[in-house]
Amino acid sequence: MCCIFVPNTIVLLEIPTQKIQLNVNSVSVFIKREDLIHSIISGNKFRKLKYNLVQAKAENHKTLLTFGGAFSNHIAAVAFAGKESGFKTIGIIRGDELKSKIDENPTLKLAQECGMQFEFITRESYRHKNEVGFLDDLKQKFNDFYLVPEGGTNKFAVKGCEEILTKEDSQYDFICCAVGTGGTISGIINSILPHQKVLGFPALKGNFLKDEIRNFAKNKNWELIAAYPFGGYGKITPELIHFMNQFYLETKIPLDPIYTAKMVFGVIDLVQKNYFPENSKILLIHTGGIQGIQGMNLKLKAKKLPLIDFQ
Ligand SMILES: *Cc1c(COP(=O)(O)O)cnc(C)c1O
Repeated sequence: MCCIFVPNTIVLLEIPTQKIQLNVNSVSVFIKREDLIHSIISGNKFRKLKYNLVQAKAENHKTLLTFGGAFSNHIAAVAFAGKESGFKTIGIIRGDELKSKIDENPTLKLAQECGMQFEFITRESYRHKNEVGFLDDLKQKFNDFYLVPEGGTNKFAVKGCEEILTKEDSQYDFICCAVGTGGTISGIINSILPHQKVLGFPALKGNFLKDEIRNFAKNKNWELIAAYPFGGYGKITPELIHFMNQFYLETKIPLDPIYTAKMVFGVIDLVQKNYFPENSKILLIHTGGIQGIQGMNLKLKAKKLPLIDFQ
């Protein structure tokens, strides 16, 4: 099946939902495999880009410009989707030391192979990326472009994420997802029914997320569960790696180390602690991110830590 904004690419539009066998108590847990939408533009990055690319085309832009870190799922997705739908892509990458290390970085290498042009900047300048002066400099340098914000979150991204839940999902009481910038959860919140509640599991520490979500979300039936960031954004522990490997052995479902593993770990922990009312039906959203595993394993190897192993 093809799709409007990536015309030449096979994308999965009928997303399967699988039951996860827990046998802990009376709740039942299911996972919606949004990670299977596409191997590179996976999960929520597909949802978040869809209407942004439609908008960029409508405004007649030829180039997409965006921001991201070394192993960013968003950078990979923009590079690939841009190539498939006929846009030039520019990635402003955090960390100027990465300039000489593209070949050692699977995400950047893939983005480069898709034709993405990089601009490496220091972590210090990266902090100023949303300021007017910074954007003016980029316009001077690259002329016209459509700006896709970091992590892809804006009103078009939220609109795309409102398409994650479908009619069949009305049977669930709780919808659980990982949270980075808050765009995905906002779309999900906007599409739930009155009997449903959304639980978000931030993959990073900090308190700014609630305001960001309130900006986009139209109802109040949601909560953030901040107990499972595992040390913060991009951090991972041997316990989490063990959990991911074990979960794969039991379910054959790969999780990503930055987002979905922390969320699934959190939900299972809460189930075991009887957080959910009896007979609750819980739907987990697998938001993708599998492309980042290769890069994470290189880091784990360098630190002599156990690896993520989905064999
Ligand atoms: C980017 C990403 C998220 C976070 O999405 P936000 O809309 O930024 O909250 C969650 N899961 C995966 C796999 C991601 O790549």
